[in-house]
Amino acid sequence: MSVKLSKTSKLDGILSWSLQARDTCPASIENGELVDACKGCYAVNGNYRFPNVKAPREFNRLDWQRLEWADDMVNALESSRYFRWFDSGDVYALGLAEKILEVMKRTPWVKHWLPTRMHKFPKYRLVLAAMKSLDNVSVRFSSDSVTGEYIKKLHGSVIIPTPSDVTKNMTLCQAYANDGKCNGCRACYDKSIPLIAYPAHGKTMNRVIMLKKAA
Ligand code: SF4
Repeated sequence: MSVKLSKTSKLDGILSWSLQARDTCPASIENGELVDACKGCYAVNGNYRFPNVKAPREFNRLDWQRLEWADDMVNALESSRYFRWFDSGDVYALGLAEKILEVMKRTPWVKHWLPTRMHKFPKYRLVLAAMKSLDNVSVRFSSDSVTGEYIKKLHGSVIIPTPSDVTKNMTLCQAYANDGKCNGCRACYDKSIPLIAYPAHGKTMNRVIMLKKAA
């Protein structure tokens, strides 16, 4: 059986493995409310609502539980040099995190990028630390802020309202200047870069920021 990977033009055609946003994002909720960064999530609107985009994400939620899944993922990455985990969704189950760690270990020729909020749950600390210890893996803990707030040495990515809000400790994602595409940049996969700042995009996110600033 083969795994279902996605190929998005934003990522220069780099493959990714994703789940349905929100359904698999337990760390997006705090005190019964979505955290700011998830209120404007791109992965619940636009194309992401189409059945053909949702279907592989729903399929993947069951598929990773197969015994052969890690073997199939390793085979699927045979000719990849970069790989993105979770264009949408998050590592909602510890068993999934352990299987992803196995795939990462068995594909040293691939540079993996895994953004997550699951570091908020203590039971994930060991497995995420094991991923981070691998030379070929960039795990980025996402800040919940939409106004550039982050905790040094904890967070690896944060949303800023506009490109001019970048500060000296941040590496600015340039996709906004390249039609929303990575255009050859691979900063997110580079573990030597501590913090990436993503300028907010989309009407919903801009509304979230406006409300946040007005509060
Ligand atoms: S920082 Fe670079 S690799 Fe990361 S999303 Fe932006 S353009 Fe793509």
